[in-house]
Amino acid sequence: MATIAAVSTPNAVGGIAVIRISGDEAIAVAEKIFTPFGGKKVADMDGYTCAYGIAHDNGQRIDDCILTIFKAPHSYTGEDTAELSCHGGLFVSKKILRAALKNGATTAEAGEFTKRAFLNGKLDLTQAEAVMDVISAKGELELKMAETLREGAVFKAAKKCSERLLKLLSGLAAWTDYPDEDIPEVEPESILSELEYVRNDLSALIVDYDRGRIVRDGVATAIVGRPNVGKSTLFNCLSGCERSIVTNIAGTTRDVVEESVRLGDITLRLSDTAGIRDTEDIIEGIGVDIAWKTVESSELVLAVFDGSCPLKADDFEIINKINNKKCVAVVNKTDEEMMLDIKILKEYFIQIVYISAKENQGISNLEDSIKQLFEINSDSFSSVTAANERQKLCIEKAVSSVSSAIDALCYGEMLDAVNVLVDEAEQYLLELTGERITDAVVDEVFSRFCVGK
Ligand code: GDP
Ligand code: MG
Repeated sequence: MATIAAVSTPNAVGGIAVIRISGDEAIAVAEKIFTPFGGKKVADMDGYTCAYGIAHDNGQRIDDCILTIFKAPHSYTGEDTAELSCHGGLFVSKKILRAALKNGATTAEAGEFTKRAFLNGKLDLTQAEAVMDVISAKGELELKMAETLREGAVFKAAKKCSERLLKLLSGLAAWTDYPDEDIPEVEPESILSELEYVRNDLSALIVDYDRGRIVRDGVATAIVGRPNVGKSTLFNCLSGCERSIVTNIAGTTRDVVEESVRLGDITLRLSDTAGIRDTEDIIEGIGVDIAWKTVESSELVLAVFDGSCPLKADDFEIINKINNKKCVAVVNKTDEEMMLDIKILKEYFIQIVYISAKENQGISNLEDSIKQLFEINSDSFSSVTAANERQKLCIEKAVSSVSSAIDALCYGEMLDAVNVLVDEAEQYLLELTGERITDAVVDEVFSRFCVGK
């Protein structure tokens, strides 16, 4: 495979920049563009060692650098790799990259280093996907999930099941291929218990998928309520800036204002909507329609009520319309005298929090309530979980094939039918780990990576 090179640090100015070169010619390319101080030769360097020296292009000095050498297979990609750390300027790093390209390397595509690591068996496909998850993790829980995946937890779980299925398959194959010969009887009970074991183990990998997805991708959240209850104030308070216009004039917010905000361990993809009420104003009316659409497409509704006055007809319209949604009732304006009858709200909502958006009070209660609603807290859910749609689909299909095999056994069908279904499940697991997969899927996975990774 060609030797590839890229700047692996962000396309921005920083303390240092790293130019990574990987492939059969990596050391030779480094030799041509880098000279260690003190007369040492790059070609003589051992793996896991570094040298201080000068990067140059055609004899022209570029910058002082540290060169680190990795020898195949003990590198990220599994190939010979040279990494040059230079001063973190955009121009200087590009210049060194250009020198590498002139001297035998070709430009690495997005994710190509990790793709090579995968192709060279350094990591399976779920671990390769985890590399991106680690990079994009925004919080503790998300990082924990990504690291668990990267350490191979999903891979190992899938592999264990896959090995059990393979054993079954070889037993079944012997039976179906030579039914007349004296092969020890395959006991349907033992096949059944093996299949049930596999089904349980695989199902465990997807039970927490939705919770994991919420930790990773955030929750689409609509803030609704009648005019002037403090929706925009809450929105601003959560987003930490004056994004949405706040006035005491009812009907101020007409468009949907959106912002992603971080609330403890979860990200809320917040939409502030127009206050819900009957209105003659055409523009405001459109805003109200859009508000309802936003509610429909959201996964969480923060229903805001004004605690300083009793519930009104518009409040009840909202309460009735959101009863099929995951909701938190947010009683706002606790800095004023409480005039709202909480008993009534308790009939409709399990999660009720009291806040003063204006005084920035009670927000941590809101966070706790949302976590409870989505059952997200660090101890309760398994971090060994399918991390994306691709992984989830492979596991779901494998589970479904195993379930069909179990049914086939229970209904006393021929063992060849069971054999076919078990084989099908095995194929899905190979697809999950990337052991048997089309180039198109591999390309698709790595296209989501950044250049230099
Ligand atoms: P929206 O129409 O629901 O978006 O409400 P706004 O956020 O625009 O606020 C309407 C009025 O209520 C403004 O005058 C705010 O200053 C006031 N307000 C919002 N939150 C609070 C609060 O927690 N306490 C008090 N006392 N007033 C608030
Ligand atoms: Mg508003």
